[in-house]
Order: sequence, then structure tokens, then C-alpha cells
Amino acid sequence: MQKNELVKVYISDMGNEGEGIGKSDGLTLFVKGAVKGDTVIARILKPKKTYAYAKVEEIVTPSEDRVQPSCSLFGRCGGCNMQNMSYSAQLKMKADKVKNCLMRIGGIEEERLNACSEEIIGMEVPFRYRNKAQYPVGKGKDGKICAGFYAYHSHNIINGDDCVLQKELSARLVTCVKEEMEKKGLSAYNEETGKGLVRHVLTRIGFTTHEVMVCLVINAKDLKAAADLVPALETVINEYNKETCEERLYVLKSLTLNINTENTNVILGEKIIPVYGDTFITDYIGDVKFRISPLSFFQVNPVQTVKLYGKALEYAELTGKENVWDLYCGIGTISLFLAKSAARVCGVEIVPQAIEDAKENARLNGIDNADFFVGAAEDLMSEKYKESEGKLRAEVICLDPPRKGCEESLLETVVKMQPKRVVYVSCDPATLARDVKYFEKHGYELKKYTPVDMFPQTVHVETVVYLSQLS
Ligand code: SAH
Repeated sequence: MQKNELVKVYISDMGNEGEGIGKSDGLTLFVKGAVKGDTVIARILKPKKTYAYAKVEEIVTPSEDRVQPSCSLFGRCGGCNMQNMSYSAQLKMKADKVKNCLMRIGGIEEERLNACSEEIIGMEVPFRYRNKAQYPVGKGKDGKICAGFYAYHSHNIINGDDCVLQKELSARLVTCVKEEMEKKGLSAYNEETGKGLVRHVLTRIGFTTHEVMVCLVINAKDLKAAADLVPALETVINEYNKETCEERLYVLKSLTLNINTENTNVILGEKIIPVYGDTFITDYIGDVKFRISPLSFFQVNPVQTVKLYGKALEYAELTGKENVWDLYCGIGTISLFLAKSAARVCGVEIVPQAIEDAKENARLNGIDNADFFVGAAEDLMSEKYKESEGKLRAEVICLDPPRKGCEESLLETVVKMQPKRVVYVSCDPATLARDVKYFEKHGYELKKYTPVDMFPQTVHVETVVYLSQLS
């Protein structure tokens, strides 16, 4: 196959980045913009020996799962890549992905999986679910300040602020910042030269409290003029309140500067300077309160987080007497969610600031049966186990690792602690399946699992798994 060649292909599957997959002439084609069930004319972009990257040139017969994307930037923006597929088809695809991984990588027979899988938990309204946005700022071809989203696989900024995954208020806040920058002659950062002032605008909105945070990431030590933004931002919020008539009014609680003078892809620097209000907002997951600063890790989809942790709580089967370990605890979200139903919860997390936040959040909620430790879970648990001379036990162990899953040495220690139940929350079905296989080989059995859609319109899927010790 040659570059730019046009081929007709039926799309039989979806890939990891939301691209359609089809076969032609013995080659596997990864077709950007295609949906499973489509027949398309694809233009070959990059031919390789056994596969080729391509994009849709023309849709010959659309899939019955194909829908009109809600966002005008779809296809150009690198943010979400499944908006051209109906939500019910997205959910089915995600549930299938988890099941396939557990079968192929986890080695579990289909019949058993059918018996222990619970229905994927989707959203009623799969849009405007994010509580956090980070808009890169730059200078457009017209010389004006632009802010928006990075294009697919690049750092070119697409100007446009209304992302359908964000609350509309977030778009208005960033538009307001752009306008004020123009008025005051504040420059945008240029990634190539390392010059210019404003790099990113970050917004966070408390879904329960309606507290609003705006943070400007700047390439300077300070920016006195930032205080002038307050009246403009407040006007925008007040107008939004009038239009939406929600019972609880949105309020600007925090305007901060984040200092990032490094020439790097990392968005945030370490230093926060308060400009107006506090350096944090407060929000809730269920009835647990959290303090969120621009630097805090906090789940971005609060509506689904409650459902995800609700499942984890259900699978933990707590009666109030249990000792629980929550490994990879972040700011203690799961730990604090479980603490009320357990005797004691211990959280472990590698980022020291997150553990500071976890302790603060425990205090904030009057929770006194939760302890938190800084360290790599694999090292810290192995040390604790050794110190206890092999006596360390827990009824329930909760795992919520990043994409690469758990180190095998951690799984060894977990098994040695002989928990009755292991609750594994995962953002990557492949590494989850690998780790489930380990547990199944070492005295545990997969009892139940539930996929949860935390990120509608994207290919990501979370899964909660319940593993039970064989008696
Ligand atoms: N359970 C938390 C966070 C899960 S994200 C929540 O729901 O909010 C995974 C977390 O694991 C991150 O906070 C990351 O910093 C942490 N982490 C990564 N590698 C780790 C390791 N080796 N040991 C402990 N924590 C680790």
C-alpha cells in the first residue's frame, strides 16, 4: 500500500485511541475518525509492513452506532475521541474491553466472567462532567491571545473554550481571562522561545459547593496586575448565576498564581501565590469533604467517583470491625470513604503532598481512625511486613494503582497479609487482568467486577474488582 492510496474497508473493531480498525489486503488499518460498523473509504497516511495508519476520506455506509459529535472541535482537538459513537455503544465497547482483557490476559473463562460481571455504570448525562480544566494560552495567527485545547498529538493550540466535557461557566471564565489579557497587554507564553507571561489558565468548580477557583500559571515570579481580574471574573460568575438560576450560587473563592518559569511540558510549578480568597476550594465526594488546591490531585468526575467508591465500599463488605489498607491512596479519597465503616484504615501513597492533604482531609471530616504513610507501596508494605515479623494482617486491602498496575513484590506482600477480600480499582484493564491472574494463582478468586465510566466520550474505563480469599 502506498501513502495517499484510497481503500474501501469495513471497520470491525475500535483501537486504544478511539480509532477504527479494519483489514484490507492482509493489512490492519487504524483509521482515524471511523466507528465500528462503518464501511469507509480510507486514505492511507503511514503504510508499514503489516499495518497502516489512515483517516476517513468518505463514509460509504455509516455504522448504526455513529452519531453527530456535539463539539465543533471534534476530530481536531486531542481531548476526547469517541464523540462520534452513541453513548450506549461507548459503554458496550468499554465493558467488552474489560471482559476481553480478563479473558485473554487474566486467563479467566468467558462463562465465569459472565457470572461475575456486573453491568457497566454509565452516566445519565455523559457531558459537562469535569470539575477541572487546564487551558493552554498562546498567540494566534491573528496576533490575538488564544486559549483552548491542544490539537491531537501536538502542542498547537486550538482556540475555542467551550469544551462539552466542562461546565459552561469554565469556558466563560477563560474567555474573561483572555479578554482581560488583551485589555491589559499581558502576553501569552511561547513554548518555543520560552518567552511571554501566561502559560495556562486552570479552573476548578466544586460541583456540590459551587465554589470557583481560577489559577493563572505564569512564567514570572509574580504578577501584581492579576488582582485586577477579580471584578471581571465576579461579573462573569454573577451573570452565569442569573442565567442558570441554580439554587446554590457560584462564588469566586480562590484566584491564585502558579509560578512555572521552567522550559518544560509540565503544566504546574510548585509555588502558589494567593491573589484573592483562599488558595483552595472545598468540595464533597458523597458526604466526605475535601480541600482542593491547584496542585491537589482530585478526581475530575465527582458524579461517577461516588458511584465508583460506592462499589468499592460494597465489595469491601465492612461491618465496622475490619482493619483496612488503602494502597495508592492519593489524597485519601477511598480511605476516608471507607473509614466510617471500618475499625481502622491505613493509606499509603508515594507523593508526600498528597499524604499531607489526606491527613488534613481526615481532620476536616473529624475522622480519627485513618492513618497515612508516605512511600512506594511495594517498599513500605514489605518493610512493615518484615518489622511485624510476618504478623501484619488486614481483613480488606484496597488497591488503586496508576496505569502500570502493581509491582509483583507488592502483590506478594498483599497475599502474605492474607486479607479476606481484595478490592482492586483500576484505570487500565490490561494491567488489572495481569494482576488478577496473580491473585488467582495465589489463593484468591475473582468474585465480581464492575466497569465504571468515569470519562464518557473518551476511550478510558475504570473497573472495580472484588477478589475473595479461597477458604
Ligand atoms: N486512590 C486515589 C488515587 C489513585 S491514583 C484516589 O482515588 O483519589 C494512583 C495514585 O498512586 C497516585 O496518587 C500516585 O501518586 C500513586 N502512586 C504511584 N505509584 C505509587 C507507588 N509505587 N506507591 C504508592 N503510591 C503510588
